[in-house]
Amino acid sequence: MLSYLHSFHAGNFADVLKHSVSVQILSYLTQKPKPLYYLDTHSGAGAFALEQTEAQKNKEYENGIGQLWELDPNAENLPGLVSEYLTLTHTFNPDNKLTRYPGSPWFAQQQLREQDRLGLFELHPREQATLRQNFAGDRRIHVFQDDGFHGCISQLPPKERRGYVLMDPPYEVKQDYQTAVSSLIKAHKKFTNCTYALWYPMVDRYRINAMEKAFKDSGIRNIQLFELGIKKDSEKGMTASGMIIINPPWTLMKIMQEGLPFLSKQLGGKHGHFRIEQLVAE
Ligand code: SAM
Repeated sequence: MLSYLHSFHAGNFADVLKHSVSVQILSYLTQKPKPLYYLDTHSGAGAFALEQTEAQKNKEYENGIGQLWELDPNAENLPGLVSEYLTLTHTFNPDNKLTRYPGSPWFAQQQLREQDRLGLFELHPREQATLRQNFAGDRRIHVFQDDGFHGCISQLPPKERRGYVLMDPPYEVKQDYQTAVSSLIKAHKKFTNCTYALWYPMVDRYRINAMEKAFKDSGIRNIQLFELGIKKDSEKGMTASGMIIINPPWTLMKIMQEGLPFLSKQLGGKHGHFRIEQLVAE
C-alpha cells in the first residue's frame, strides 16, 4: 500500500521535531572532517509546496512551522534546537514568505560536505521522481527506488565507517511499528557505531510502549527518546510524535532539555507536552 503522501502533512508539528533533531545530529557529526554517510530510508519528495491543494487541505503546517515562522532565528533567547532548524528553513524560503517546506533529504544536503554521501530510499513512483528531480546534479546523492526498511541494511556498513540513518516510515500499515524496530536492530548488528533515528507518531500509546520494550530488550545500548505533543493522549488522531535515537551525540540530551519545553509551549500552548528519556543507558 502506497497511499501516503507527505505533502498533506509537510511542516506539521511532527516535522518540526523530526527535522530539528535531525539537524542537531548532523551538526554534531559534521564537526569532524572525516567523511560521513547519510541514509534516509523513507525520503519523500524532498520539497513541498505549502500553497498547493494537498498541503492546503488540512493546513497542518499551521500547527508546526507556522507557529515558529515569525520568530527571529537569531534571537538570543531562542534555543539552539529551534534556531538552527529555523535558519535552514528560512534559507529554503529566501523571500521570507513561508510558501515551501523542505524535506529531510534537503536538510541533510545543506549540512553535508563535499566528502560526504547521501543514500535516499523512496518507494512511491511520484515522490521518487520528484526526489530525483529535486536533487539532480548532486554527485554525492544516490536515489534508490527500493524498500527502505530492508534496502538500508544492504548499504551498511558504508565505506566511510561513520554514518547517520534516519528512518521515517508512514505507518499506514500497523506492521511498520514492528518492521521499523526489527530492521533497526538488524542494521545495528551490521554497523554498531552508526547513529540511528526513528520517528514515530503517537496515535495509540500501547504501540509506542511495545516499541520501547522491543528496543530495551534488544541489547542495544545508549538509546534516547524525545517526544513532542500538542494534544492529550486521550484525544483522537496523532496527539504527539517522537524520535528514538540510538548512539545520539553526547550533546543532544542537553539541547533537547533546553529546546523541547520551548517547542511544546510554542506549538501546543497549554496542551503542549514532551518526554525526554534515556531509554537505555550507555
Ligand atoms: N522523511 C521525509 C521527510 O521528513 O521529509 C518524509 C517521509 S514520509 C513520512 C514517508 C515516505 O516513505 C513516503 O514518501 C512514502 O512514499 C515512502 N515509503 C513508504 N513505504 C516505503 C518503503 N517501504 N520504503 C521506502 N519508502 C517508503
